[in-house]
Amino acid sequence: MKLYEYQAMSLFKEYGIPVPLFEVIDSPRDAESSAEEIGLPVVLKAQVLVGGRGKAGGIKVAHSLGEVKSLASTMLMSEIRGELVKRLVVAEAVEVERELYLSATLEKYGGNYLFMASPEGGVDIEEVAKGSPEKIVMLEVDPLVGIREYHMRAIARRLDIPPTSLPDLMNILKGLFTIFKSYNCELAEINPLALTNKGNLIALDAKVIIDDNALRVYPHISRLEVEEVSGIEGEARRHGFSYVEMDGDIGIIGNGAGLTMTTMDLIKFYGGRPANFLDIGGGADAERVYKATSLLLKHHAVKVLFVNVLGGITRCDEVAKGLVRAMKESGAGKRLVVRLVGTREEEGRAILTSNGYEYFSSMDEAAKKAIELSKMG
Ligand code: GDP
Ligand code: MN
Repeated sequence: MKLYEYQAMSLFKEYGIPVPLFEVIDSPRDAESSAEEIGLPVVLKAQVLVGGRGKAGGIKVAHSLGEVKSLASTMLMSEIRGELVKRLVVAEAVEVERELYLSATLEKYGGNYLFMASPEGGVDIEEVAKGSPEKIVMLEVDPLVGIREYHMRAIARRLDIPPTSLPDLMNILKGLFTIFKSYNCELAEINPLALTNKGNLIALDAKVIIDDNALRVYPHISRLEVEEVSGIEGEARRHGFSYVEMDGDIGIIGNGAGLTMTTMDLIKFYGGRPANFLDIGGGADAERVYKATSLLLKHHAVKVLFVNVLGGITRCDEVAKGLVRAMKESGAGKRLVVRLVGTREEEGRAILTSNGYEYFSSMDEAAKKAIELSKMG
């Protein structure tokens, strides 16, 4: 999971990496008051997960409060490379003498951390690697040993920073190492790391990617995650459902990852387009099915809801009850196709048919029906 810049910046701050004064806002009025607090000029930064914001108009400098307000209102709710901008960071504008690059990633084979540094920051490191690879220093760091002084001196040499900036650099590297290790990162990157004319080092940008498999282990990371994932996906996660959105018009519910995936493949196989899918897991009762179905129906693109459930510990009657209730409340204008077999199948079927819903025991028949309905006006 990639963190937003403001989340990564907060981590940096917490671990002693200097960052500009900043605040996160979601309205032009808040942008103005933040700018007033921070002091002009400020930099407005679109909070999106896509890279290269600067080039796409996602980074602007404002010199007056009027400018802050007008820039904030154009930037908020605009799109940066297809991603909606819901929040901005208002940050103290830093006077930059040189832009440097610093990052930690995983070394592919040995299980070590790989620290990279380059005096050419602010640009893509891949570009530097192609054009002038000699400018990049790469150092392997054993996670059990930690980052040592000789590593740090080697990095300082390559960055060509004044000796007075060395203590700053050491703190930054130690912070980066600790973040990388304690958050199971795949990447922790500072690009650019600004060197000011006073010789101070400040992280102007922050990119942190956490291994998804580590998220559940740490409650403080899960908290970041919930904050980050918004909308239906965030709600689904908070309820413990796995939910994925696509760009079609058929909503899919299954029980168990295998069946849910198979259901999606089947829809695609017969020429349909999934809008989203959700796995209700094993043993879901009516309440949980209701919750799941309501969530799925919230996605505006869903025209047909296709439910494929194999009742084992999951009871078909419970599934049917949950489905009927959710459809009544939030299924206006949407169609429901159900394939339901297994435990309490008869009872489940009776609930569905008495409420006027189509019911199938063949998965293929059901899938074809769902697709047919999705293609009707
Ligand atoms: P990115 O385009 O998503 O990588 O966004 P960055 O946060 O890295 O900003 C892009 C560029 O904007 C940086 O490389 C800097 O050149 C510039 N920039 C960002 N913040 C500041 C600032 O406070 N002062 C100055 N002078 N430049 C900044
Ligand atoms: Mn950057």
